[in-house]
Amino acid sequence: MNSRTAVVTGGSRGIGAATALRLAHEGMDVALTYAGDERAAGEVVRRIEALGRRAKAVRADAGNPAEAAGAVEWAADAFGRLDVLVNNAGIGVLGPLDGLTLADVDRVLAVNVRGAFLAAQAAAGRMREGGRIITIGSCVAQRVPGPGATLYAMSKSALTGLTKALARELGGRGITANVVHPGPVDTDMNPADGPYAQGQSDGTALGRFARPEEVASMVAYLAREEATYVTGAELSVDGGHAA
Ligand code: NDP
Repeated sequence: MNSRTAVVTGGSRGIGAATALRLAHEGMDVALTYAGDERAAGEVVRRIEALGRRAKAVRADAGNPAEAAGAVEWAADAFGRLDVLVNNAGIGVLGPLDGLTLADVDRVLAVNVRGAFLAAQAAAGRMREGGRIITIGSCVAQRVPGPGATLYAMSKSALTGLTKALARELGGRGITANVVHPGPVDTDMNPADGPYAQGQSDGTALGRFARPEEVASMVAYLAREEATYVTGAELSVDGGHAA
């Protein structure tokens, strides 16, 4: 019952699922949230339990304020402690500036920004010294490769400000906060064989998409007890997209 514990938002698929599994491999008990795909969440839970770790999943819309904070409280209560929050849940609404609606703006900011803030606020209230808040940003927070990303890039840039301020706010308690900026990652959100994939690959130095596990390994490092002196940092896992 003394294992370190993590909650991963949006942990049922893609980068979140790879992260949840990686943290379990590293010996942590893991709770994950999901938006709607109960079957996928259940599969990740089964795979974590097969590793001998405790796993839990809860449907919690990051865009709903009560659910965004409540899922973190629920996970901390369920495991009896909380060491790591991975703020991963996010949506990508891309397209020309004049086509984005007020509903698009509100939804993207609610899920990508407000949800991350509320989860971090709840987690900070439950973490002890050694706590880790890790947020998944995006390479477009550092360098926007072309048109169509106004809303998404705005939302992801906000996570850098949140992270730096969290680092200052929580440093005195020995809690770190960092943001990881992935480049193109082969997931349901952004498949490596999708219509815009070639341009994204070409925009990296390595000339390819990442596998979700390549992002999860950076998150796992930041989550470890040994990562005591990394805080307020932006870590690029982008294949050289920003180079
Ligand atoms: P996916 O769409 O493949 O997976 C998204 C995950 O988040 C799923 O588990 C999904 O749950 C969950 N989710 C979606 N909306 C919500 C919500 N409102 N509340 C709670 N959970 C939600 O995405 P990726 O793995 O590609 O992306 C993960 C993060 O990484 C996002 O923040 C994204 O912006 C960021 N990112 C992705 C990149 C990429 O190229 N893929 C590049 C840079 C950043 P369910 O299965 O129930 O729908």
